[in-house]
Amino acid sequence: AMTRPWLEQYEKGVPRDFAPGNDVLPDLLRRSAEGYADRTALTFLGAVTSYGELWEDALRFAAALQKIGVQPGERVSVMLPNCPQFVVAFYGALLAGATVVNTSPLYVPGELEHQLRDSGSETLILLDTFYPRYTQVAARVPVQRVIVTGIQDALPFPKNVLYPLKARREGSWVGVKAGGSVYSFKALLKGQAPTPHPVTVHPDGVALLQYTGGTTGVPKGAMLTHANLVANAGQARAWMTDLQPGTEVCLAAIPFFHVYGMTVAMNLSVLIAANIVLVPNARDIKMVLSQIAESGATLFPGVPTLYNAINNHPDTPAHDLTSIRACISGSAPLLLETARQFRQITGGANLVEGYGLTEASPITHTNPIAGEQREGSIGLPVPGMDALVMNELGQPLACGEVGELWVSGPNIMRGYWGRPDETAGVLREYAGQTWLLTGDMAVMEEGGYFRIVDRKKDLIIAGGYNIYPREVEEVLMTHPAVLEAAAVGVPDAYRGESVHAVVALKPGASVTEAEIVAHCRNGLSPYKVPRSVEFRPELPKTAVGKVLRRQLAEEARAAGEQK
Ligand code: AMP
Repeated sequence: AMTRPWLEQYEKGVPRDFAPGNDVLPDLLRRSAEGYADRTALTFLGAVTSYGELWEDALRFAAALQKIGVQPGERVSVMLPNCPQFVVAFYGALLAGATVVNTSPLYVPGELEHQLRDSGSETLILLDTFYPRYTQVAARVPVQRVIVTGIQDALPFPKNVLYPLKARREGSWVGVKAGGSVYSFKALLKGQAPTPHPVTVHPDGVALLQYTGGTTGVPKGAMLTHANLVANAGQARAWMTDLQPGTEVCLAAIPFFHVYGMTVAMNLSVLIAANIVLVPNARDIKMVLSQIAESGATLFPGVPTLYNAINNHPDTPAHDLTSIRACISGSAPLLLETARQFRQITGGANLVEGYGLTEASPITHTNPIAGEQREGSIGLPVPGMDALVMNELGQPLACGEVGELWVSGPNIMRGYWGRPDETAGVLREYAGQTWLLTGDMAVMEEGGYFRIVDRKKDLIIAGGYNIYPREVEEVLMTHPAVLEAAAVGVPDAYRGESVHAVVALKPGASVTEAEIVAHCRNGLSPYKVPRSVEFRPELPKTAVGKVLRRQLAEEARAAGEQK
C-alpha cells in the first residue's frame, strides 16, 4: 500500500514545487518594499502606510532598539493587538537580530509573569492600556526596558476616533509617562534615521518564541526559526496559485500574536505585497464586516468561530462581502454547515479548510485551491511537507486506519525553549527524517486527503467506547437553535465518563435540554448521545477563537462534585 497517496494529486495540477531557500523574515519585507514601494502595506482605521514607509519604519525601529541597548539574540516580547505598531515592532526587532516573543494581550498578570520569566525577555513592547498589568509583575520579571504605544499613535486624528474614545470611556486611559527604562514607541521613531548597525541574521536563528499549551499545563515556547517561518509563508503561497502580488487585500482580523494570524495574515501578506487591513479586535463583528466592505478585501483568513459569528450576525446582510475570493479556515474543525453558509453570503468565496499547529509554524495541510476540495477534510500536505498516520508502535498505517498524525518538513520547530525533555516527547527520528508528533488522531483517505478525527487528549471514553467530541458537536450544530456547541467528558460512576454538552443558542432562540437530547438521538449512536446539556450565553474561547473544551470539562466536573 502506498503511504503517500497525495502524490497522485500533484499529477493532477495541485502545486508541489517549493524550494526552501535561504531567506530570513526581513527579506520578505525588503523585497516587497523594493518591488512595490508605493503600494499600501497597512490600512488601519483610515490610516495607510506604504511598503516603502513600512520598511523604513522597521529599520528605524531596529536602530532605536540598538540605541537603547537591545543586543542580537535577546528576547523582545510584543504584547499588541493587530495595529501598525505590531508589524513595525515585529520586523524591527528581527532586523536588530532579536527573537520576538509573541505575547497575548489577554494574559492576566500571572500568565504574563510566567511568559516573561520563561522566555527571559529583556524588552517588552506593549499598549498603554496593558501597562497596569505589567506593573503588577514588574518586580519579578527580567524586563529591563518597556516600550509603550497607544492605538492613537497610529491614527490620523480625527478621522476615526472610535477606538481611542472607547478606551477612554472604559477608564483605561492610562497615560504612561516615559522616563527611566520606559520609552515611548512614537518618540523612539521620531527623528531616528533608518540605519541600524548591520546584524547578521541566520536562517537557522530563532526568530520567534511562540507559546503554546496554554489550555493545558504550563505554556512553553516553540522555537520557530527564520527558515521555519519563511518556509511556511512560502508553502501557503505555493498553494494559493491565483494570488496576484501587489494587488491583494487581506483582512487581518485573526490576531498576529497567534501563530496562524502571524503566518497567514501578516507574513504571507508581506510576501505578496498585499494591503493588510488591520482589525484590532476580531470579536467586533461589526468592525470586521465594515472593514471587509470598505476595503474590498480579497483574502480573509479566519477561524470557524469567526465565520460562524459572521453567518449569524444581524448586520451581515447589509454588507457587501462579495469581494472575498479566498479564505483559509484553520485552527479548529470547520463544520460543514458553517462553510456552506459562509460561501452563500459571500457569493461563493473559496473557503478551504486547513490544519496546523504552533510547532509547525503552523500550516501542514490545506485543501487545494486548485484541485478537489473535500468537505470535512483538512486536505493534503502542503508543498514540502511529509505526513504519515502512525500506530502506537510508531509504524505507518494504511489508508482508512485511524492513528496519530506525524508531520515532517522545513516548517517544523527546532524544539521548546529550555525544555529538552518536552521536545524529546514530540520530535522523533524515523526513516531518516525528523517528525513532529501532532497529538491529533487522523485518518488518510484515498487520494491522500486527511481527516482529523480529534485531539488525542480530548477523547471521551464512555463504557469502553471511544467517543470523539467533534462527532457529537457536528450533530449539535445542526440543530437550528444552536449557535456554538462543545462536547466534553464528565466522570460517570457506571461508564467511567459520559458525554456532557455545552451549548450557546442563537439570539432569540429557545430550546429545552430534552429537545437537544432528542435531536442527538436522531443523529448519533446511543452511547454518544449527551447525558446532560448545559446552556451558556457564549462558550469560552482562546484568543484565536478556539473553544476551550478542557476548561468546560473542568468546570462541568467541578459543578458535578458540588452537587
Ligand atoms: P495551536 O498550536 O494552539 O494552534 O493548536 C493546534 C491544534 O489545533 C492542533 O493540534 C489541532 O488539534 C487543532 N486544529 C487545528 N486546525 C484544525 C482543523 N482544521 N481541524 C481540527 N483541529 C484542528
